[in-house]
Order: sequence, then C-alpha cells, then structure tokens
Amino acid sequence: MQRLTHEEILGWLRETRPAQLDQLFAQADQVRHDNVGDAVHLRGLVEISSYCVRQCHYCGLRASRVTPRYRMNREEILTCAHKAVELGFGTVVMQAGEDFGIEAEWLAGVIRQIKAETPLAITLSLGERLLDEARLWRQAGADRYLVRFETSDPQLYAAIHPQRGAAISDRVELLRELRKMGYEIGSGVMAGIPGQTYEILARDIELFAELDLDMVGIGPFIAHPETPLGAPGVATAGEEQVPSSELMVLKAVALTRLVCPEANLPATTALATINTVDGREHGLESGANVFMPILTPSPYRQMYQIYPGKACVDEDATQCNHCLRGRIQRLNRYVGEGQGGRRSGSSGEASSGKETSTDAKARQPLSDEPLSPSLQDDASPLVVLR
Ligand code: SAM
Ligand code: SF4
Repeated sequence: MQRLTHEEILGWLRETRPAQLDQLFAQADQVRHDNVGDAVHLRGLVEISSYCVRQCHYCGLRASRVTPRYRMNREEILTCAHKAVELGFGTVVMQAGEDFGIEAEWLAGVIRQIKAETPLAITLSLGERLLDEARLWRQAGADRYLVRFETSDPQLYAAIHPQRGAAISDRVELLRELRKMGYEIGSGVMAGIPGQTYEILARDIELFAELDLDMVGIGPFIAHPETPLGAPGVATAGEEQVPSSELMVLKAVALTRLVCPEANLPATTALATINTVDGREHGLESGANVFMPILTPSPYRQMYQIYPGKACVDEDATQCNHCLRGRIQRLNRYVGEGQGGRRSGSSGEASSGKETSTDAKARQPLSDEPLSPSLQDDASPLVVLR
C-alpha cells in the first residue's frame, strides 16, 4: 500500500499542473496493473425500485420529489439476471432507493433463485436497511453490499442526509457490521458535493483505506434541479469547495487506487455522464478496473433519475455491453471472467487464464517511493484534461 500522508493527499487534490498529474495517473495505473491486473470486470446494474423513504438533499429519488415510481417484480429481476449471464457478466448489482416495500423475505427468495439458476455474484445496494434484513440476504447468498458513506464529515453528513425519524444514520458503522456478516463491502463519495472541502475529501480517501474497503465508487456530484443541493445559489465552501469536475474525480480515483491497491474501483456512470466521449476510459486509465453497465429494462431506467442526463439511459443492455467492450478493447485491457471479487473464497476470483492479481503482485512495483506533489519539478501552469 502506498503510504500517503494527509498532506500529500491534500496536495494532490489541489494539484493542477498537467505533468505532475500525469505522474499521479501513471502511478495509479501501474498500481492497478500490479494488484488487480488488466481485467475489467462487468457488473450488471439492475435498479429494482425507485421508491425511497429518505430525503437526501442531493438525490432525485428523495421521497418528497413528485415523480413516477416503480418496483420490479421477481420475473423482471430474474430476466435481468439471466441477461447478465448471457452477456458474460460475473455479477448482478441490485440497487434501489431505501424502499421497505422490498420485503426482506421476498428479496431473500429472489436472491436464492438467482444463486440457484446462475453463477453470478450478487451485490446489494439498498440503502440503510435493518441489520437483520442484511443478515437474511447474506444467508440467502448475497455476496457484497454497497453503501456510500457520502462524506466522512459528520456536520456535512447531517446537513445533506437527514435522519429517518428517530433512527440514527451511521453508514460507516453499517459498513463495519456488513463486513462482520461476511459481505464484501463497498462505499464511496461524490466529488464536488456543495460544502465538501479539500480537507474533507482527503479525509474521505483516508477513511476508504482505514475501512479496508473491497470496492470504492467515486463519481462527480451532478446537480438535480428538483433537490435542495441543486437549487440556484446553494451554499458552498467558497474557495475551499471541491469542484465536481472530471479532473477532480480522476484525482480522487487515482489516490484511492494508491491507498486501496486491491480494491475494485468502478469508472462510474456519473463520470461517463459528465464526459460522454471518454470519461469511462479516463477512469480506467486512472486506477479503475470495473464497469457497471445498466441492465434495468425500459421504461424503468428512464424513471430511475438520480440526476438529469444520466449516460446510457436511452440504450438497452445489449447496446451498453457492446459499447463498453469496445472501450475496454481499445485500451488493450480485457473483460474479466468469473465473479471478480476481492476476497478469495467469498465471491470468486478472476479466472481468465490470463494474468491474475497474484501473478501481477509478484512483479516489482513501479516505485517504492511515495509520490508527492511537492517533490515534483515545476511544469506548465495550468491543466485542463488529458
Ligand atoms: N439508496 C441507496 C443508497 O443511497 O445507498 C442506493 C441508491 S443511491 C441513488 C446510489 C448513490 O447515488 C448514492 O450513494 C449517491 O452517492 C449517488 N447519487 C445520488 N444523487 C446523486 C447526484 N445528484 N449526483 C451524483 N451521484 C448521486
Ligand atoms: Fe434514497 Fe439513496 Fe437517493 Fe438517498 S441516495 S434519496 S437513500 S435513493
């Protein structure tokens, strides 16, 4: 693991010089290669419900937003899981708003059926459900759970993520409990959420390492005009406000790869939304090793509007698969086979017959020296994007 100090992470987040940033991205790409290899794992995303009881200030699915809602039935979800197998994916991700209309026993039955009928790993991303429910789903066969802690700063968290009634919302504690249950755990943040300072984002990245996350998703905050954080004139952190730019996301992904070398890191759909041309490729070149193509059928995918303009909403699963495979090939990477989990035994290992992460680890890393922005030569003053 790269030992980056808080000041070094902070320095990199503030760095703007292209030559220095190219070194950061190259180092992250090498660490990715050495630890998880060149495979890009495909996780089919099925957005199983757009109902939500929560009022997150950033999200278009928040309970009070008036918008058509849907909840998929068992047959629809099973059809998506079989589509994932047909397209060669190793994992199906079931994501939803925090929807207690998704009854725990019912979902356990769906999980059991997917496990019985397919070789897929199952990832859940269903918000802050009860521990007993998560335990039931784990026993039914779910392998992984994603819940972004959104920010490590307690005050910002309380401001953007209101409690639900008297229930204490503690996503970090939830992650620790999920790990104890045997789940692979994934978390993450949005870069550029109003009120997020460079200091806060640096601490977020340190918390990824402290939690030893198996998966980390980082995308840009994309303002939804019908949410409190998307309203005109929303308060920001002024000069210390992290921008919600592609470059900032790429820096955060690269630093996360350095501090969490073995984690699975997606090049997110939100990143592809702010750069539809090659945002995903930039993600893969900056440390990411996962794509999450959307399998949700129409018209539901159009209704799962977390933020406006979401990439791939007008394509179907087959088109998405074709497009993503082309992007992977053009970077001389290849699609990972098997479930592509991090922890051996729990949810499968990449088994492509090509280089494995263990093989890759046997090679020498690029450098043992910590990469520090302050130690680099000066270069041209301003960077836009690669
Ligand atoms: N309800 C579950 C939860 O909150 O964990 C899963 C679904 S939720 C829509 C998935 C993620 O979408 C959130 O964790 C958040 O980081 C991201 N998200 C929500 N609103 C967003 C926005 N305006 N821009 C970018 N990402 C957003
Ligand atoms: Fe609901 Fe998740 Fe959106 Fe929050 S982020 S409003 S929990 S869907």
